[in-house]
Amino acid sequence: MRNTLICLLVVLASGNSLAQESLRPDRPVALVGGMLLDGYEAEPIHHSVVVFENGRITAVGSKDNTEIPDNAVIIDTGGKTVMPGLIDAHMHIDLIGHGEYERYYEFLDNMERIDEVMPIAAKQMMRGGVTSGLDLGAPFQILAFRERVRSGEIPGPRLTISGPWITRLDMESVPDAYEIVIDSPREAAQRTRELIAAGSDVIKTWVGLSEDDYRAVVEEAHKHGKKVHAHLYDPDAIRAAIDAGVDVFQHVGSARNPPYDDALVSEIAHKNIPIVQTISHRIWVYPATVKFPERLYDPVYKKDMPADIYEEFIASFENFHRRSYFYDIGQESRNAEKSAGQFIEAGAYMGVGTDAASPLNMHTEAMWREMSALVDSGMTPIQVISAATKTNAEILDQFDELGTIEPGKLADIIVIDGNPLANIDAMQHVDIVVKDGGIWYAESAAHGPVTEIGHAF
Ligand SMILES: [Zn+2]
Repeated sequence: MRNTLICLLVVLASGNSLAQESLRPDRPVALVGGMLLDGYEAEPIHHSVVVFENGRITAVGSKDNTEIPDNAVIIDTGGKTVMPGLIDAHMHIDLIGHGEYERYYEFLDNMERIDEVMPIAAKQMMRGGVTSGLDLGAPFQILAFRERVRSGEIPGPRLTISGPWITRLDMESVPDAYEIVIDSPREAAQRTRELIAAGSDVIKTWVGLSEDDYRAVVEEAHKHGKKVHAHLYDPDAIRAAIDAGVDVFQHVGSARNPPYDDALVSEIAHKNIPIVQTISHRIWVYPATVKFPERLYDPVYKKDMPADIYEEFIASFENFHRRSYFYDIGQESRNAEKSAGQFIEAGAYMGVGTDAASPLNMHTEAMWREMSALVDSGMTPIQVISAATKTNAEILDQFDELGTIEPGKLADIIVIDGNPLANIDAMQHVDIVVKDGGIWYAESAAHGPVTEIGHAF
């Protein structure tokens, strides 16, 4: 009784800073028996052992050669695959897959209710096995939200954020807090400086920028050690971004556009510029939904949402083929066959991002659908798994801590039911998610020691 009281006082006195650590088990944990994919494009380790303690991985190997501490809690991963937590290199934590952006922002009263939807999206990402994400475009309310996730108050991924994007074109359908409209390179540099001072980890550029604008943003961002991620479709904009030294190309080769010139694709590949294609969100998600609209009505969505948000979310799917997001889906799908595989074939440096939760592209499913689309377009399952973990950690400059399973790294680990090397769609069956050493489990994995030391979704 007395101990409990002391613990309670300690937690209260230290505020949120201890809360996440308190989500960790107080003993070492050993994941034993599963096939391990460590994040590298390497052969799997069969009958593996991964031990973690105090939020860090302490041992990795096979059952034959890896010592398990006497006091470890053992979680049996037989029949399953163990791999690094997924990293989504292009997502939006303020979105939940609603069918129409304009109506969604209106429903949320512009920014008034954004704090209600971010926790829904965060939990959905975790359920999808996504333990880290790059949010490319949100109001700075996201910073306070990130603290709530860090403190363990709500389950959610580690967040790297851009804050509002820089553009020359004012998009009327989004609230002003999402965008910074510039009209000169000088202003572009100044606003980049302000964004970084306000908390941007990376800079996102949207559309209409000249080469000089890009140059100004890149120069300023690099002075502060930050990368520039550009939203790019148009070949002229891509040309300008290459010449200005933009760091990461987002959406390029997303299959909406007709195929690019081979020379342009080859240049991007040779310059080793990271590509985050985001190919599945229209081209794969739309036909999958036409074939199986039932996917929109998974009760898991109802479980997490306040009743009125759920009602609006469901109502937005009515006649989804008429929604503006899918107006050009016919032409885009015809382009897709040729353009989705261009960068893969050219040997480009491939990251993985989803643009979730754009219309119908819910966070729970977005990563496995993107990974599946990349396999359809020419990558092997091990290549796409490594891209979604190791490469994405490199793109986010977090490879020292994340992206692979090796001793010393942070314990961000997922357990998949089945073998994604045989069928990448197995990635949709996420049983256990370890983030920062805290353990979350799906209903399907609710047995044995995991229920004693973990937290149910
Ligand atoms: Zn986006």
